[in-house]
Amino acid sequence: MTEIVNFDSLGLAPELLKALTDSGYTTPTPIQAQAIPVALAGGDLMAGAQTGTGKTAAFALPLLQKLLPFANNGASPAKHPVRALILTPTRELAIQVEESVRAYAKHTPLRSLVVYGGVDIRTQTPHLKTGIEVLVATPGRLLDHIEQKTVQLNQVQMLVLDEADRMLDMGFMPDLKRILALLPKQRQNLMFSATFSNDIKKLADDFLTKPQLIEVARSNATNDNVTQKVYSVEQSDKEALLIQLLKAANAKQVIIFTKTKITASRLSRSLEREGLAADAIHGDKTQQERIKALDGFKAGTITALVATDVAARGLDISELPMVINYEIPSAPEDYVHRIGRTGRAGASGIAISFVSPEEEKYMVEIEKLIKRQITRETVAIEKSSTRARTSSTSSSSTSKPSAHKSASASSNQDATATKRTPFKKKNSDPWFDKPYEAVVAAHQQVTVRSSTTRKAPVAALLGGLVLNK
Ligand code: AMP
Repeated sequence: MTEIVNFDSLGLAPELLKALTDSGYTTPTPIQAQAIPVALAGGDLMAGAQTGTGKTAAFALPLLQKLLPFANNGASPAKHPVRALILTPTRELAIQVEESVRAYAKHTPLRSLVVYGGVDIRTQTPHLKTGIEVLVATPGRLLDHIEQKTVQLNQVQMLVLDEADRMLDMGFMPDLKRILALLPKQRQNLMFSATFSNDIKKLADDFLTKPQLIEVARSNATNDNVTQKVYSVEQSDKEALLIQLLKAANAKQVIIFTKTKITASRLSRSLEREGLAADAIHGDKTQQERIKALDGFKAGTITALVATDVAARGLDISELPMVINYEIPSAPEDYVHRIGRTGRAGASGIAISFVSPEEEKYMVEIEKLIKRQITRETVAIEKSSTRARTSSTSSSSTSKPSAHKSASASSNQDATATKRTPFKKKNSDPWFDKPYEAVVAAHQQVTVRSSTTRKAPVAALLGGLVLNK
């Protein structure tokens, strides 16, 4: 591995080094140390780097450096043609990438702009018309601008495909082909992808010229800074477990992943009803709603952000301490992306997965991919929140009263429970007749069971203590 101690040795321009100092970065991350020299040398690049590795700066810095000779303060838009195009799969990622580009370009006259769908296209057009050198875009909205002739791409000399694997997953291949056909043939291409599937290799074959391959961590490897835990839990108990965990942990910033938009919305409402500051972010939310949720999350007014995979892709929330997989993704790569939200840039984090018996098969696939087995743990579920929840979400097909707690009492009772009769007071567990009690002390509430049952302080749930090796 190359020994590089600081950014100066990468040959970056003083304007960019100054911006890096402003950002507080002193040492290049491995992807930056490897990608920046290759990109500065002018060749095509295919880089395998998961999110959180510092990949944005790895392409943004050389890109800006290459454009520096064209930087000018001229007022005429003609002096500022689009010279670099960065394509990203989601609006959130586009916004974040452009923010980074702007931060790194702040001591240069280079201009950048982000365009994405979900907002009125007319608000973007005047900005485009003033002339900008670096355009960050989602493919669909870029095509809209191309059709409306509000953007010209005939001077593009650098192209970045960020999170290329996700672009393919999201079905952007036809859009990409249309856009790439409009770019000058003579250009430099930098492609970043968390995973190297066959489709990604084909994309690279089609669009890159003799790319240099860089991989900082083995593709699909998970970050060592992240403690991974798996709780075996019935689907119907997940909500109660989540509420219990969040309350016990007094968690300040957690992203909770669901598979569907409906579950994300429903769950965020349930959390709110439990007094937790929650919001949901998914594809059916307007751009304004997403930005509001994200800003709230970043500012700390929202502590639990419930998200679908697509919406959460590319979110850059530094030092996110906890990620919870409320539902296990059927595509194992999504697990890697999800837990890449935590443990970023060297910080430590914890990723907890709630695995129902039906989802075990997905977890096994994930373990194959990450080449690691994770011990299944079970958590005794306090039913206070379930009760509150059951009454308010009784129409949900997944919610049922906590029958398994009293399973030993009578199998008939179980049968009653699975028919979803939430208010029948047939439960033999006296707990159900007690009034609601707030969680007082974490260690009184949460019991972690591995091979043997034992009580553990909540720190254990959060990875602070090692149990049953
Ligand atoms: P990225 O993988 O580009 O999303 O970056 C992940 C996080 O690492 C972001 O919060 C960046 O601001 C941060 N970051 C990027 N480069 C560095 C660096 N050289 N030193 C410290 N933090 C960095």
